Amino acid sequence: MQKLDNLSFDTQHIWHPYSSISKPSPMHEVISAKGVRLTLKDGRQIIDGMSSWWSAIHGYNHPRLNQAAKQQIDQMSHVMFGGLTHQPAIDLARKLVDLTAESLQYVFFADSGSVAVEVAIKMAIQYWMAQGYTNKQRLLTVRNGYHGDTFGAMAVCDPDNGMHNLFDKVLAKHLFAPAPRCQTDEDWHDGDIKGFRSLIQRNHKKIAAVILEPLVQGAGGMRIYCPEYLRQVRQLCDQYDVLLILDEIATGFGRTGSMFAYEQADIYPDILCLGKALTGGYMGLAATLCNNKVAQGISADGKGVLMHGPTFMANPLACSVACESLAVLTRSNWQKNVQDIEQQLLTELMPYQNLPLVKEVRVKGAIGIVELNQEIGDEMGWLPAFIVKQGVWIRPFRNLIYIMPPYIINAEDLSQLTSAIGKIIEALTEKMATKI
Ligand SMILES: *Cc1c(COP(=O)(O)O)cnc(C)c1O
Repeated sequence: MQKLDNLSFDTQHIWHPYSSISKPSPMHEVISAKGVRLTLKDGRQIIDGMSSWWSAIHGYNHPRLNQAAKQQIDQMSHVMFGGLTHQPAIDLARKLVDLTAESLQYVFFADSGSVAVEVAIKMAIQYWMAQGYTNKQRLLTVRNGYHGDTFGAMAVCDPDNGMHNLFDKVLAKHLFAPAPRCQTDEDWHDGDIKGFRSLIQRNHKKIAAVILEPLVQGAGGMRIYCPEYLRQVRQLCDQYDVLLILDEIATGFGRTGSMFAYEQADIYPDILCLGKALTGGYMGLAATLCNNKVAQGISADGKGVLMHGPTFMANPLACSVACESLAVLTRSNWQKNVQDIEQQLLTELMPYQNLPLVKEVRVKGAIGIVELNQEIGDEMGWLPAFIVKQGVWIRPFRNLIYIMPPYIINAEDLSQLTSAIGKIIEALTEKMATKI
């Protein structure tokens, strides 16, 4: 059999995220990455605007993270976590307990964000079961959320743009309030929480927990909402005896301008999910933290154990890199870097707001979003190659063009990203205009 070249083999045999084998999308082969640049096989270098889905916050090929991984490999790459423990897990748990709210004292390590969400849901349901509340099994969330692709997580993703229509018969039925609308506390009006309030009032006896992405909703719509909404949610959860799970898998570790987004609302969750940037983008690792009430409550009957245990739980290699990534982050000037990125995004993206194709421009911390008033259809298959030709890596979806670059990006490289967005809008305007 003739040996296929790489890209042909890839398109014929390998699934990519949300892809089709019969109608593969165009691929670019990356051979290395350093700082904010990816090097493609054809020699081109492109500036990464995605941080590999929120994760590579320090850029690629970081000498200190490389060193941490190499050192750990020479000790041990992995050992099971059942009955055994190790320094990298202990060090990382210490750091996470220190870095997060004082009430969050217990850490469960998982290998991906989706699994961290599954664990959070199990914690909440098990907590109420152990208290004798066997009816508290539902979750309450808001529309436009995204919490992962496994079944428990999918069931709390947006019911329209998630995968509910495909898996409707197997997905657990949860409660969905309207997505928050107020983007800033200055815009706040009580009507914004009305739908949520009436759902929790009417159903709290069935609700184990509320689950939300605080302040920024990621893959479910790239929406920004105000801290006051979170304060109201926390207060209603307390009033109606419902646990609060915050999914900071995308927002955690500085992305929104504070270490965790909940800090801006001055509230604490009962359960917190972390992932994505935890290892600085080196490998999969996630964590679910909880407070004393939840941790002790799960075992209130004296025998309850938390029913989860992934094979690669607390992988030492991942934990070592995560420890180093947190050390690099906390000793860096990340607040200023994120602030500078925010200012520059405001200056350079806001002017696009006046373009006819643009519905809204939104900026929060090191996240810049351009929402178009039309979806980018399948007929725009030329777009990925066009974007790479601008010397950047940006991956629009639905009607959204967005960037969340590594925090170390300099002003010049960031300008190249924002001006590429301008060129993308321009090119789309031409094509879409001919369609109308
Ligand atoms: C990415 C993401 C997840 C899922 O994490 P995976 O590591 O892809 O499983 C969950 N919640 C949020 C908010 C995310 O952005």
